[in-house]
Amino acid sequence: MDLSSDAVARSVDKCVKCGRCVTACSHLQDMNILGFTSRGDHAHVDTPFAAPLDMTLCIECGLCSAYCPVGAITARSEVDAVLRELEGKRKVMVACTAPATRVAIAEEVFMGEGENEEGRMVAGCGILGWTTGFDNVFDTNFSADLTIMEEGSELISRLNGSGPWPMLTSCCPGWVNLVEKSHPELIPNLSTARSPQAMLSAMVKHPFAKKIGRDPADVCVVSVMPCTAKKHEAASDDFTFTDDKGRKVRETDHVITTRELGHIFRLLRVPLAQLKPSDYDPTLGVATGAGVIFGVTGGVMEAAVRTAQVLTGVESPIPLGALHDVRGLQGVKSATVAVKNAKGEEVPVRVAVAHGGRNVKELLKKMEKKEVEFDFVEIMMCPGGCIGGGGQPKSKSRDILQKRMAAVYDEDERKVLRRSHENPMIHELYKEFLGAPLSETAHHYLHTHYHDRSHTHDPTPETRGDGKPGARCPTF
Ligand code: SF4
Ligand code: SF4
Repeated sequence: MDLSSDAVARSVDKCVKCGRCVTACSHLQDMNILGFTSRGDHAHVDTPFAAPLDMTLCIECGLCSAYCPVGAITARSEVDAVLRELEGKRKVMVACTAPATRVAIAEEVFMGEGENEEGRMVAGCGILGWTTGFDNVFDTNFSADLTIMEEGSELISRLNGSGPWPMLTSCCPGWVNLVEKSHPELIPNLSTARSPQAMLSAMVKHPFAKKIGRDPADVCVVSVMPCTAKKHEAASDDFTFTDDKGRKVRETDHVITTRELGHIFRLLRVPLAQLKPSDYDPTLGVATGAGVIFGVTGGVMEAAVRTAQVLTGVESPIPLGALHDVRGLQGVKSATVAVKNAKGEEVPVRVAVAHGGRNVKELLKKMEKKEVEFDFVEIMMCPGGCIGGGGQPKSKSRDILQKRMAAVYDEDERKVLRRSHENPMIHELYKEFLGAPLSETAHHYLHTHYHDRSHTHDPTPETRGDGKPGARCPTF
């Protein structure tokens, strides 16, 4: 059993050699971490040089686990840990649910495909059968709005400064893993804004915990994500702090996938279909349509453009929902949009969007060869963006992705407020705690830094310095 990765677990004994994980990892994602090795009866699926996953270039996207039909590769389950915390009743239990979870949870409890069951998912988290349920359910769409405030401000500040260009989005931890492990030269280009998960957890553990008069260590944040890479992100030292009693406290205590939440609902016999829909706790649960569309490829870009055009005073901003060039399942999409600089001039910003490892790598190659040039690029490592994440229900047909995508855009259209900077609770948070976008406080809690991890796969233990065998295959 390989438990070296924070995101996925591999149990070689259960493998039936169907090769679906190889298709996902090597053909869909172009990562080539999993492949067939040996011949005849000895043929089996393995990593380069049979290395533990954390010593390969694996980006922890979890697509292999979403394609494995027999549970030989699974997400690193935190179901037991979460149930223990809920039953222990010692902490304030907080659930934070990501944009893409609400349009997929119905599939896990046999309620149809592409249905938006946001309200029932919130209600289900609140009761959870014979356990006490979560005390507060917050919406990661709220922190998606916060991400736009910070990332959009960073884009405007780079426009008025000197780059570096292109600016690359940073909300997909699978993409951050790819940059840190395989393209460290792109680290300066990554936005320093944390992912919506990391932003929301910081807001729960700091201003929210203070507001309710509890120590951050007495609040347990369970993040419900379409994503396995977020498990790795949450475990990082960058999102752990030392409290005033000298204890190490994680900002996100546990990350469970949409599949794991479905598992909990089924295990505890939560009658989701019969529940009356509930609203999120408004403290950190009010979101605009811009936050909702983070769940689909192109959504982060569209949300950023909506806010950047209005905040910089562009004369005729693109009407809401009309930035069609960045929508849809085409692998790489591009557009040119206007944003005003500090001199009051409207300048063209060339934007691009790529999703799925193979498309991302093709775009990177073209950018490297200067065949294409962009100013702002959104990257999501899963096909379709987070709606097709490695932690989503095991149904990856294009039809189902289309249905989930349609449900996301429907939700955006239903919203009264559709630009992140219009969110009144975001304004309140800046007024009460953060100051202003890119302020010192905002930088402390909402931004991060990156690490060159390319050396962790150095084939020579001497140069890598940890004495363990290396794992880079010369052919990969
Ligand atoms: S998590 Fe992603 S990159 Fe890693 S082995 Fe699985 S499919 Fe490949
Ligand atoms: S696309 Fe979404 S689900 Fe996939 S790795 Fe990135 S953040 Fe996670």
